[in-house]
Amino acid sequence: MSHSRHPDNKALTRRDLAVLWHPCTQMKDHESLPMIPIARGEGVWLYDFDGRRYLDAISSWWVNLFGHCNPHINQRLREQLETLEHVILAGFTHEAVVELSEKLVALTPPGLKRCFYADNGSSAIEVALKMSFHYWHNRGQTGKTRFISLSNSYHGETLGALSVGNVELYKDTYGPLLLDVITVPGPDCYHREAGESCRDYSARMFAHMETALEKHAEETCAVVVEPLVQCAGGMRMYDAVYLEMLREACDRHGVHLIADEIAVGFGRSGTLFACEQAGITPDFMCLSKGLTGGYLPLSVCLTTDDIYAAFYDDYARLTAFLHSHSYTGNALACRAALATLELFEASDVIGANRTLAAHMAGAAARLADHPHVGEVRQTGMILAMEMSPDGTRNTAYPWQERRGLRVYRHALENEVLLRPLGNVIYLMPPYVITPEEIDHCLAVAARGIDLATCD
Ligand SMILES: *Cc1c(COP(=O)(O)O)cnc(C)c1O
Repeated sequence: MSHSRHPDNKALTRRDLAVLWHPCTQMKDHESLPMIPIARGEGVWLYDFDGRRYLDAISSWWVNLFGHCNPHINQRLREQLETLEHVILAGFTHEAVVELSEKLVALTPPGLKRCFYADNGSSAIEVALKMSFHYWHNRGQTGKTRFISLSNSYHGETLGALSVGNVELYKDTYGPLLLDVITVPGPDCYHREAGESCRDYSARMFAHMETALEKHAEETCAVVVEPLVQCAGGMRMYDAVYLEMLREACDRHGVHLIADEIAVGFGRSGTLFACEQAGITPDFMCLSKGLTGGYLPLSVCLTTDDIYAAFYDDYARLTAFLHSHSYTGNALACRAALATLELFEASDVIGANRTLAAHMAGAAARLADHPHVGEVRQTGMILAMEMSPDGTRNTAYPWQERRGLRVYRHALENEVLLRPLGNVIYLMPPYVITPEEIDHCLAVAARGIDLATCD
């Protein structure tokens, strides 16, 4: 079969639907929902085959930081491509992975000294869970076999990562396959009382964690959380005081703390890492998504000297962490990550983001009074608007109405890629977005919310 040299949207869609099965998608939706084949990307823009363009306001599932086809990252990748594409990371090493590890150790909270690589976020979570369990095992504490996580949390899709997550939509079907995790009501400030501050609510909700730790510390390896923003759970936010209290309590109870910064890392929260806002160092920090600027799959689990030391012994004692993935520490992916970090070094990205974030806040402020918006909330470069039938935080549109999907369709017709999470419309844009482009995204989002809530 021969294919046209210049495909159009329709032709490529037809071929796609014949052979692909897309992620996180009810494929039958595509009987009515157009699929959008992308021909090329540049900066915040994606261009299809029919000459239309879309502003990538969600950074292609939160991975892109400095725009599509970024010239600097492209150049560094070209150089790497001519030198080394990949090499086994057991027994061998290479420049990019060493340099990247040095930089990550320097940039992450003090005390995180060791980098263990994998190739996607879920796998980094699996590494953290296994390492924590194995640490206690090597220390003779074999009774520690469980994990504590928060309601509404999300940590990925592999069975271990899915177990510690708590978004029913993704998890419920697989219940019989999953680990028996202790789920604690979390600090999600959407549920605070009227007049209560997010800080007070987060501190108050910590009582549930304290109770769980008192009851289960003996059998618990680690608590795993998404610092400050529960992204897949609808961009729900909480105050840093919760993380401060959690760090103290984990130490007091002899339980590890795993910080899943896969989504919030690399500046999304307003600081390079969200943990900085609480002044804490977790025992494990998982990074992925923005790590390579949105170019290539790579993840890392950083940990401390104390954890590392528990595995370091003569081979015959069988204390080593015998975990690996074929593409661990891939040289191209590490090079993309280094190029991304170079862009952070080249200018004050975090400072510039503060200006952009303030602009987003200003442009979205009027939506807080919308009759069908329950809340407009923001943490750094993440801005979310939650639709609600009566404009309060007390009611929610039934998921079956799929009102977010209406916003999605409206946005596509107006050159913006939004991908609402249920009733939550959000912007998590690449950092190269301009104030005018933010205004456009928010105007489209506002009109989309009007249309999605008019009946
Ligand atoms: C996306 C995400 C993951 C999973 O990462 P994948 O690369 O999709 O496996 C884990 N935790 C958080 C907080 C995420 O946002």
